[in-house]
Amino acid sequence: MQIARTIADFKPMRPQWQSEGSGVALVPTMGALHEGHMSLIKRARGLAPRVVVSIFVNPTQFGPHEDFENYPRLLERDLEMLEEVGVDAAFIPEVAEMYPPGFKTFVTVEELGSRLCGVSRPTHFRGVTTVVLKLFNIIQPHIAVFGQKDAQQTVIIHRMVRDLGLDVDIVVCPIVREPDGLALSSRNRYLTSQERQAATILSRCLDLAEQTVKYGENRAAVLLDEIRRKMASEPRVRLDYAEIVDCEDLSPIETIEGPALLALAVFVGKTRLIDNTYLRRFSHT
Ligand code: AMP
Repeated sequence: MQIARTIADFKPMRPQWQSEGSGVALVPTMGALHEGHMSLIKRARGLAPRVVVSIFVNPTQFGPHEDFENYPRLLERDLEMLEEVGVDAAFIPEVAEMYPPGFKTFVTVEELGSRLCGVSRPTHFRGVTTVVLKLFNIIQPHIAVFGQKDAQQTVIIHRMVRDLGLDVDIVVCPIVREPDGLALSSRNRYLTSQERQAATILSRCLDLAEQTVKYGENRAAVLLDEIRRKMASEPRVRLDYAEIVDCEDLSPIETIEGPALLALAVFVGKTRLIDNTYLRRFSHT
């Protein structure tokens, strides 16, 4: 596995791979890798002969009082995991490499970035789209692989790719969960054992909604009331939002007809966790 710490380090790899006729798949991450990330990398392996994984804790997607400083950084262990799974190159730039002094350019997908997580994290998605576009420009992948875990992110990146005519296919992989339903996340390591137990409320609420839809309920307000009630039964958990939205424009919907995105964000202690599922109207015919 080659390791590129700078854009200049990475540059010679592209023409070399191109001359071999090899396509490139990129998996962007912030490190502290877990089986969720690994599932994306394995998928990327099946999609392109060359796989690049970026590890970059991107400061512009963190708000002023968020966990940028404390975000887990486990680079040596991450690189071992990447070597083991068989990645061609790891791109691991420093902040000054991605944001040189005087950096002024940001990419914003209007409206979509202000909904759901954008309400409590107003600059988050502008940080995400800016760094992802910059990674696309540096790595020039044919394919980029993201996780459904960050559903709003995938919708926004799809829109950026479409709006800017970027020549990259976006592939989205399912959420990898612990046996008890908790979605894997680098932030789960912040949780105390009691918080870890309480955090299963997220997937339990998603299950409840899926079951309720299965039994014929398709009114979003009723489903969201049930979720809020269930969340309230878990004293360690504070709901940030629970919304049922259109899969493309993320606007709230009243009745589930086609597939709809149920997205949840909570605070468990000080840790903010998200989870989601697609709800589909159940046909009894
Ligand atoms: P992060 O390192 O948290 O920025 O995540 C990097 C990529 O891994 C994103 O596309 C995430 O959606 C994806 N990811 C994170 N957790 C999971 C998970 N539990 N299952 C599948 N993909 C995930």
